[in-house]
Amino acid sequence: MKNYDVLVVGAGFAGATIARKRAEQGKKVLVVEKRAHIGGNMYECEGENGIRVHLYGPHIFHTNSERAFQFLKEFGEFFPYEHKVLGKIDGKLVPIPFNYTSLEMLFDKENAEKIKLKLKRNFPDVEKISILDLVKHNDVDIKEFGQYVYDKVFANYTAKQWGTTVDKIDTSVINRVPVVLGYDDRYFKDKFQYMPKEGFTKLFENILNHENIEVRLNMNVKDILKIDFEKKKTYINGEEFGGEIFYTGALDELMNYEYGNLPYRTLELKFENYPEEYYQENSVVNYPNEEEFTRITEFKYLTKQEDKEHTTILKEYPAQFDIHNPKYADPYYPINNDKNQEIYKKYQDKLASISNIKLCGRLAEYKYYNMDAVIDRALTLCE
Ligand code: FAD
Ligand code: UDP
Repeated sequence: MKNYDVLVVGAGFAGATIARKRAEQGKKVLVVEKRAHIGGNMYECEGENGIRVHLYGPHIFHTNSERAFQFLKEFGEFFPYEHKVLGKIDGKLVPIPFNYTSLEMLFDKENAEKIKLKLKRNFPDVEKISILDLVKHNDVDIKEFGQYVYDKVFANYTAKQWGTTVDKIDTSVINRVPVVLGYDDRYFKDKFQYMPKEGFTKLFENILNHENIEVRLNMNVKDILKIDFEKKKTYINGEEFGGEIFYTGALDELMNYEYGNLPYRTLELKFENYPEEYYQENSVVNYPNEEEFTRITEFKYLTKQEDKEHTTILKEYPAQFDIHNPKYADPYYPINNDKNQEIYKKYQDKLASISNIKLCGRLAEYKYYNMDAVIDRALTLCE
């Protein structure tokens, strides 16, 4: 490590942003990435039919952070993209988040009008509301409506996604998807909603393309980094290294699982190719109820790739993370609850004695971050 000032572990958004910032500040940066590619979970590539896919699940950029968007815009062009989702409820494809259109499609006219009127009266000037506020409302019609949406949209989807009931997961998870009191059918309400013209991988190539950055793929940091907690020192390939180390992988892995595993939910991702222009009428269709998968994504809608003869879709099957089974060994979603936070804190407290290691990202911080939040956090760390 003599030739480097900074070690960055992981080439996802956390690692790539930090590497770039430190490189621009004149530091020599080594990025090590255990996968065979850059981009982390944002990695995008071409399938055998030529259709571009997001290999680790669908990713849509949306943010209210001007700073995060400004940072990204330096490395590629973007096109405006407002994401919309449909959900299959009682055999019909209705907008998700559930809104007035969904209500009108699923309830008879008289009932729908009555409920809309009550919602307007009880929540004047409110654009969106948590499903949890509707189910506990004291007006019986609003409560019944809330219970319907809860049962048809949230209960089974959440059971599939998290392997447990809604009441056992952190409310912030459910509240990512509100009920909309109006006709706005966009999935996100953020100020900036765009997708990269040449895809996410190209964006990462440009971020990491700097004379002060070297990237080494297929390299697990565990094979080169040793932490001596007694001496409070870090060693790389046996030599002491006192420079900054930004770690964006899973914290329990770094700490040899000393305090036990940090649980995650994972996904089994099944891609299907079709010799057709389109498979479905929308980019994402959610299947809250009957099917085993949670949603189907058709990538051409996200990338705007033109091809009249081919399309690729992805079905997501949630599963329990299992480090020993390659099929389930990708940690996708941290599970936020008191017990897991306690384990995380033990790791964090122990690592705090090693002042040159900093944690950043969805895995390292064990937080359900969207990409813009990760970029924002990385930028703050580098200031
Ligand atoms: P990652 O992208 O996971 O990068 C960490 C990197 O570190 C990985 O490449 C990993 O291989 C590497 N690494 C780990 N351990 C080691 C090690 N020991 N040695 C070397 N390298 C290591 N966000 C949005 O904003 N919009 C969306 O639409 C969206 N959709 C999502 C859909 C799904 C299915 C999931 C799971 C997440 C979604 N997200 C979305 C969140 C987004 O994926 C994350 O916020 C973002 O990718 C996190 O970046 P990161 O750098 O923290 O982690
Ligand atoms: N959710 C649901 N039904 C839906 C969509 C979402 O119950 O049709 C719940 C589910 O618990 C999910 C959470 O809302 O995990 C967050 O959804 P989001 O679409 O943000 O999940 P992500 O894209 O991060 O997988």
